[in-house]
Amino acid sequence: QRLPLQQQVAGFYKQRWQACPIVNGSAMETGTALPVRAPQDRAIQVGSLFEADSETVAQAIQGAQQAFPRWNGTPVKERSAALERAADLLETHRAELIALCQLEAGKTLQDAIDEVREAVDFCRYYAVQARQLFGTPVTLDGPTGETNELYLQGRGVFVCISPWNFPLAIFTGQVMAALVAGNCVLAKPAEQTSLIAARAVTLFHQAGIPGEVLQLVPGEGRRIGPLLTAHAGITGVAFTGSTETAWQINRSLAARNAPIATLVAETGGQNAMIVDSTALPEQVIQDVVASAFTSAGQRCSALRVLFVQEDVADRILDLLRGAMAELTVGDPCHLESDVGPVIDEAARRTLQQHISEMRQQARLIAETPLPPDGEAGCFVAPVAFEIKRMDQLDREHFGPVLHVIRFKAAGLDEVISQINQAGYGLTLGIHSRNETTSRYIESRVRVGNVYINRNQIGAVVGVQPFGGLGLSGTGPKAGGPHYLLRFATERTRTIN
Ligand code: NAD
Repeated sequence: QRLPLQQQVAGFYKQRWQACPIVNGSAMETGTALPVRAPQDRAIQVGSLFEADSETVAQAIQGAQQAFPRWNGTPVKERSAALERAADLLETHRAELIALCQLEAGKTLQDAIDEVREAVDFCRYYAVQARQLFGTPVTLDGPTGETNELYLQGRGVFVCISPWNFPLAIFTGQVMAALVAGNCVLAKPAEQTSLIAARAVTLFHQAGIPGEVLQLVPGEGRRIGPLLTAHAGITGVAFTGSTETAWQINRSLAARNAPIATLVAETGGQNAMIVDSTALPEQVIQDVVASAFTSAGQRCSALRVLFVQEDVADRILDLLRGAMAELTVGDPCHLESDVGPVIDEAARRTLQQHISEMRQQARLIAETPLPPDGEAGCFVAPVAFEIKRMDQLDREHFGPVLHVIRFKAAGLDEVISQINQAGYGLTLGIHSRNETTSRYIESRVRVGNVYINRNQIGAVVGVQPFGGLGLSGTGPKAGGPHYLLRFATERTRTIN
């Protein structure tokens, strides 16, 4: 008889994992093993990481280049079938992957369950999309006696560089999009979450994706990243991470004396929510807390700046204090924890620095208590400050810190201009029961995803395609019907 999911997951809490380069189908234990520690308790060693080096990277690129013509020539229905088998294997190993997301990335049980679900959804969705887009060539009308067709092909070797905050879902989404379009892939996961990526790659190989077609080159981004992006043999990069790293990758690609590479970048956000006086306060608070503090605020979509109309601000802030007092910060493996740790000590220090600056410059609204035994882990308690203007924040603060700004009804245009001037364009929340107001805001804020009268996190593959513009990325949207096109090149065939 099968145990309930939670018990199955707990059965993996004592397991230990390993990540190493997987090049041309072989696991390579290069250099020395680095310990991988759980963010909630640095005493727990979840596994070890062997980083790639310049030699393994070169071998991987060469293997991928050689494998490209055959993989690109494989009928799309076979490539799609491999993605569907990968989805089945992810589901079969769901409990282990959930446990690993909890231990390596500090995810709560619900976040980890959602993470695996999303990875599965990406595989199945892109499999279907690929069959539609890559299946039959489009026939174009032309002169009599001539046949003209247009069809899609892979581009070559894609580098997929992913972040730690969705260590399985984003990793899988990028890799599968590139693969199903006919590309070979070098996957470079975030150094903080290489164990999850290595486990996934092993399953993807089991699903029938050849070792030369999908290679894993884990290691520190600053070192391994440039080895990949400066290489003349790569034809594209799919990157999700910070805006600053996207700039570095762009520069590295531009400096190559090589064919122009495609860059698909999904980057940071300075996401706002606007609440007017017609909004329902209880609903607002539920959505604010979910948007700002779920996953310890470590979602690119997370709410950072809450604009509240003056007339309702006191009431909203009172409710916010109450809701934040009810949150429990703690070990993500404990069911009662709402908010787990941030990813590592460096992230905790950066956030603490920002919080202490805010204590000097801004008014504290509320702060959730830290767990009494939290010293062993990288915990940052949810905190909310009232500030005057959005430009007091010079960049994205990737954690559970909410900034609140009051505005007068006549100042809505100024609010919109502050949001646009920040230059990001990822998510925007609007809470208003006045449709004219909400349409007015929506038409003027430059942003990729707008959420009205709900929280602004948790995009659903195939239903809410996700991605930004400006400093938040290039598009097209992940989990949407156009995403695969960026991984493909168009070819025409004219037959006399
Ligand atoms: P990061 O930019 O520090 O790292 C992302 C990846 O880039 C990692 O794999 C890292 O090793 C690698 N990297 C670092 N330096 C590199 C270099 N010079 N060349 C090549 N690769 C390099 O980001 P992070 O801290 O892992 O993730 C958090 C950030 O990601 C936040 O800014 C968040 O908003 C953003 N994010 C965006 C989305 C989105 O869909 N827009 C989704 C998730 C996360």
